[in-house]
Amino acid sequence: MKKVRKKKPEEIILKGIGVSPGVAVGPLYRVDLEEAPLSERELLPEEIPAEILRFEAGIIETRRQINAIQGNVRRAIGDYDANIFDVHKMVLDDGAFIEEAIRKIQVERKNAEAAVRLVANRYSEALSLVEDEYLRERVADVKDVARRVFRNLAGRKSHMLDGLHERSIVVAPDLAPSETASLRKDMVVGFATDMGSSTSHTAIMARALGIPAVVGLGDITARVSSGEMVLMDGTEGIVILHPSGSSLRKYGKLAAARKMIQSGLSHLRDQPAETLDGCRKILSANIELVDEVGAVKKCGAEGVGLFRSEYLYITRNELPTEEEQLAAYREVASLLAPAPVIIRTVDLGGDKFASAVKMPQEINPFLGFRAIRFCLAQPEIFKTQLRAILRASAFGKVRMMYPMISNVDEVVRANTLLEECRKELRKRRVAFDEALEVGVMIEIPSAALTADLIARHVSFFSIGTNDLVQYTLAVDRVNDRVAHLYEPTHPAVLKLIKHTIEAGHNRNIWVGICGQMAGDPVLTPLLIGLGIDELSMAPASVPVVKTIIRSITGEQARVLAAQALMAGSAAEVMDHCRKLIAAVAPEILELVR
Ligand code: PEP
Ligand code: MG
Repeated sequence: MKKVRKKKPEEIILKGIGVSPGVAVGPLYRVDLEEAPLSERELLPEEIPAEILRFEAGIIETRRQINAIQGNVRRAIGDYDANIFDVHKMVLDDGAFIEEAIRKIQVERKNAEAAVRLVANRYSEALSLVEDEYLRERVADVKDVARRVFRNLAGRKSHMLDGLHERSIVVAPDLAPSETASLRKDMVVGFATDMGSSTSHTAIMARALGIPAVVGLGDITARVSSGEMVLMDGTEGIVILHPSGSSLRKYGKLAAARKMIQSGLSHLRDQPAETLDGCRKILSANIELVDEVGAVKKCGAEGVGLFRSEYLYITRNELPTEEEQLAAYREVASLLAPAPVIIRTVDLGGDKFASAVKMPQEINPFLGFRAIRFCLAQPEIFKTQLRAILRASAFGKVRMMYPMISNVDEVVRANTLLEECRKELRKRRVAFDEALEVGVMIEIPSAALTADLIARHVSFFSIGTNDLVQYTLAVDRVNDRVAHLYEPTHPAVLKLIKHTIEAGHNRNIWVGICGQMAGDPVLTPLLIGLGIDELSMAPASVPVVKTIIRSITGEQARVLAAQALMAGSAAEVMDHCRKLIAAVAPEILELVR
């Protein structure tokens, strides 16, 4: 978190990462840091090794979070305030604390939560008895650390928004994608969090709901109380505590100006996404919820290029049945018909977890048991979804794609299960589209580099740049400490995109992009110049991306792509991209900052 400037003593401007655009003003609602009752139990002997690993993972994650917060505070306010967190780290690094907790798990068969509570209580009691006032005050730090560990052990289970009774800006340490999905849009006008990054699924969900959001603010929860007035701008990524009259006026005007630019774009709805020299592209929308189909039609997209089906799984306690999934897919397909919808098979794991599915707690969940890996290991869960998608294809133009493909074998195995489902449905005489097109997401470097081999088994590619950037640059997409290294225009990423497009075109299949890069208007000419056929993005981005396409020539795009492929850094590429936008549609820069 960075303190940008301090106009009057009472106005504080905090800088984070803007992940969902828009200005919001209102009273603040701070998510209560008190946790739900702890689940404590006695372990079976065979559960002990896994519980120790779970405990250690909870400690590692807590240490990571505290380091991140401390770094932010140091950059923003200075060493003095940042040193407060040294005490938190001392607790976590205290060998005696850790050993005592592990002993409680190993010898007394306590689960991790119970072990941490018992040891933290003993420490707190001992500290509260000492004479030294400074040490006595450290009780609060021990409790704070223990609370963070509990939260991490619980896998960031739900925060209580029950106390929210008026339209507010929610401030929380972090929100899981499922929590964001269940925010009530009529009550939550914006949200701001300590943690987070722009391609996390929490951010994606905020954009889907149209809720302005700023994440990665460091320690905002520690600085505010419920009821205070705040102003936030999700485009610039700032939160202003106790905004002055002039800030309120300034951001009010900015919001009105942006609205005017946006509404000036609405006449494009029925116009094609075509360059000045007649090069036609497809613009599609990404959706997370069935309810978003209305927005897709309104924004002028030509269908849905990515329906993230996992929200059917993570916002509930049981797995969705075939019939329930069919109802959702069928509604989307029939409302959009004849326009297509690409349903992505479920991408659980990473930062999205379903309560109904037991998934192991992993140290590196983005490199672990995620998406197609989970589906191939759970063929019954997977086939239930495949049958629902096939059946929905009788009601509109349905396509399907597999996420997180890393090799040809996974595609072949998934297609084999799909073929089994087709046979079952034929036997039951249930209708489906025999010509349903199946594609894959290219979001792992190994898939991009072997796209020529994968292309033999599929009808299209959709490049998932959110993950492709993460895996190519080894930058965790939800870790705000390394967010500055998350560079979509890194030359390595551009080369992989180019390679994938060429491999697809050599086999006569179309290639799209459905990651966040597709909706960034500054990057539109570059992606067109690289040869992309389709761009799929949040519905709100479609008009602005279409404006850019209609303002450039194919030649300008190709020249830009050639420059970019020769550039030495992500910043240099961005520079070329911005220059072109400033030349052809300067007003658009106001919308992206
Ligand atoms: C991507 O990785 O770019 C993508 C579109 O999928 P998700 O963001 O859901 O991982
Ligand atoms: Mg992905």
